[in-house]
This record gives sequence, structure tokens and C-alpha cells, in this order.
Amino acid sequence: MPKSIAIYGSTGSIGTQALDVIEQHPDLFVAEVLTANNNEKLLIEQCKKFKPNIAIIANEEKYDAVNAALAPEGIKVFAGEKSLIEVAAGDTYDVLIAAIVGYAGLSSTLAAVEQGKTVGLANKETLVVAGDIVMAEVARKGANLIPVDSEHSAIFQCLVGENPADVSKVILTASGGPFRGKKPNFLVNVKKSHALQHPNWEMGAKITIDSASLMNKGLEMIEAKWLFNVKPEQIDVVVHPQSIIHSLVEFIDGSQKAQLGLPDMKLPIQYAMAYPQRISNDFPRFDIKKFESLTFEKPDIKTFRNLALAKDVMVKGGNAPCVLNAANEIVVEAFLNNSIGFLEMSDKIEACLEKIKFIDVPTLQDYKDTDKETRAYCSTLIKN
Ligand code: NDP
Repeated sequence: MPKSIAIYGSTGSIGTQALDVIEQHPDLFVAEVLTANNNEKLLIEQCKKFKPNIAIIANEEKYDAVNAALAPEGIKVFAGEKSLIEVAAGDTYDVLIAAIVGYAGLSSTLAAVEQGKTVGLANKETLVVAGDIVMAEVARKGANLIPVDSEHSAIFQCLVGENPADVSKVILTASGGPFRGKKPNFLVNVKKSHALQHPNWEMGAKITIDSASLMNKGLEMIEAKWLFNVKPEQIDVVVHPQSIIHSLVEFIDGSQKAQLGLPDMKLPIQYAMAYPQRISNDFPRFDIKKFESLTFEKPDIKTFRNLALAKDVMVKGGNAPCVLNAANEIVVEAFLNNSIGFLEMSDKIEACLEKIKFIDVPTLQDYKDTDKETRAYCSTLIKN
């Protein structure tokens, strides 16, 4: 029987690539649930092609248009966040690919975890915001959380067959983004068109800006802390511009393992969907003989302050990472709207971290309140 897959955020970069994987392996995977926020046109197109049983459009205003197009196809159409949560908590699918971008992905991912489901996690913000609560539920309900982020997929693959207690360090690689080596006098004038040109990966707009500002690596450090139960001091970041080594693990005996491959998100997506199986494919392959050198350098955290801010909140814990994440979502949107400059993003995030009240052991409601409060405060900083 093919595994039935729910793709949350099927119209995005990860979502469309997850559909490519399903298309390549119709004997192994079938699309059961597809979801979008605003892009009803693409959702309808995808549903007509992949014939899932359920389609969900988060923006309720678009329900009528989606339902009119898909009801005649025998597809059940739902709308709104409540439906995303209900279907995620249901038993219609085998694997949920959590590929909604940002805080918006938390509620449905948590709903799936609370039912002990298998989740392929692309939505790193879920763990950044509420990693303690999500991982406690993973343990309590026996859910399988398989990382899709290429770095975390690499670490996960390096850990297969290993005793987690033998890990001394995880080393996340970073491409450095389009502004690697640049200094503040250059960055002060960069525009979104430049920041959206990632050298190695084609991704959604938010994560592409996060990669340019190194916030993505900061979020990934926090994601790694929760996923692999490691302490902040056990997490390192190294810039590796070729994006061939997707990350490394060092063990207590000094031995290191790495996972390599061409930069192609279909590989970690496929791995998460098929786990614990490995399946063959026709993706282009990394040929070690054609690469004369793989290079590594230290990240410049003085220029790319987001990485330092993320490290601070990772160490501080509590609701601080939630503040960082909410502020980051607001400033990235503002940068994409040309409302603030590239370097101002870190200033505003830092101001939010100073302003919003620290909560040491937050509840889920505290995280929701912190997210809301931070967004409201950060927006005032942008207007002024
Ligand atoms: P995209 O922006 O390309 O896609 C986001 C998806 O989420 C779309 O389907 C979008 O729908 C949907 N969405 C947006 N807002 C909401 C909302 N409020 N409610 C419900 N659905 C919503 O993002 P990516 O695919 O690039 O990234 C998705 C996640 O995966 C992020 O957390 C990112 O950090 C992570 N990730 C991405 C990688 C990549 O290569 N792209 C690599 C590693 C991790 P619509 O199209 O209708 O707006």
C-alpha cells in the first residue's frame, strides 16, 4: 500500500517539491491532503492533478472558489486554521509534511504530534517557538518527527545506528547566502532583489531572506537543540559555500560523520516521507571527483548579528526564541515591502527582545500571547 501524504503548504517551495517526489513514486506515495493559504489557483491545479481526498484553504474568503472547483471532482474542501488542525489530528493520512511557513505552522504540526503521527518537519519555526512543548508531546505520544531541513536531515542520517549519548557536537553548515564576506557599509544599501538571489537554493521568500541575514542558521541552531536534545555549547556553525556537506556530527571519541549531496531539497523530503526506507531516484548526484575543493570558514557574527541574537535566545530559553521568531517574521515582511533596510532587521529584533517580558517556563498560551505582543510591538517600530 502506498503511504498517504498530507502536504501542509503544498503550494510553497517545499510543498511543490514534495509533490514532485510523490509524482516520481506513485507506487510508494499518494497525496491525501493538500493545503494553501492564498494561492487558490495553484491549489486547485494541484488537486486536479493529484486527486487528494481533502483540500484546505487557510484563507476562509477563498473557500467558495476552491469548493466550486473541487467539489465536482469529489474532493472535500475545508477552510481556516481550525480545519488545518482538525485534519492534522485525524487519521486520514500516514505522514504529514509540515511545510507551512512561519509561526502559522505551529498549531497544525502540534495537533499531528499530539496524535502520535509521523511528521516530516520543514517548518522549523514550530521548534523555535515551542520546542519544549512539541518535543514533550513527541515523547509522550510516541510521534515520529523526521527533519526535512537539509542540515537536520543530515544530522538525523548521521545518527542512525548511533547512541545519542555518544554525540559530543553537531556542526551545522551554512552557505553564507548571497552576502557572504560583505560588510555593513555594503549591506546598508542592499535591496530585496539582491537578497532574494540565493547562490545555491531556490526557496520561499521568507527563508531566502533569513538565509541572507543568517537568521536561518540561528533558527536552525534552536531547531537542532530540540530535535537532537543537545546543549547550546554542543552546537557549532561553519560556513561552507558549496552546500555539499549538509552538516556533521562529532562523537565522544573524536570521530566525525557527515552527510553529503548536491543541494536539492527533494532528497531530504523523500527521506522523511520514506523513512525508515531509502528509495532510489533519478536526482542528479554529487561526484566527488568533479569538486576540487570544499571550503569552510567561520561565520561573521559581528556583521550578521542575527546569528548572535539567535544564539543568545537559545541559551536564555523561555519565551525569548518566540520573541525572536515573531519579530523576525515582522521585519522580514517589512524588508520585503521595502519598509526597512537590511541591517535594521537586527536592530528591531533586538529592541523586541529588550521590550517583551521574559517568561522562564511558558505555557502554550504564553507562547501565543508572546507571539501576538511581539508582532504588535515590532510593527510600531516599523511605522515610527
Ligand atoms: P513558501 O513561502 O514557499 O511556502 C509556504 C507555504 O505555506 C505555502 O503553501 C503557503 O500558502 C503556506 N502558508 C503561508 N502562510 C500560511 C498561513 N498563515 N496558513 C496556512 N498556510 C500558510 O515557504 P517554503 O516552502 O520555502 O518554506 C516552508 C517551511 O519550510 C519554512 O518553515 C521554511 O523555513 C522551511 N524550509 C524550507 C526550505 C526550502 O528549501 N524552501 C528548506 C528548509 C526548510 P500560499 O502559497 O497559498 O501562500
